[in-house]
Amino acid sequence: MSNILPFKKKKNEGGNIMCKNNHHKWEVVKDQQFDVKSGKLVTVERCSRCKKKRNRLS
Ligand SMILES: [Zn+2]
Repeated sequence: MSNILPFKKKKNEGGNIMCKNNHHKWEVVKDQQFDVKSGKLVTVERCSRCKKKRNRLS
């Protein structure tokens, strides 16, 4: 008899539950970058889990 293992979910999905709830793990990618659209200095941040990016106004 061979054991049939149930389909395992990737660990990655579990980690992103936080992200789905909008609790991202932001890390600064670039300091003080000028954003042409807003005409302001912004800090570019990226989530280390889901790689989402955001611009934070300084
Ligand atoms: Zn995230």
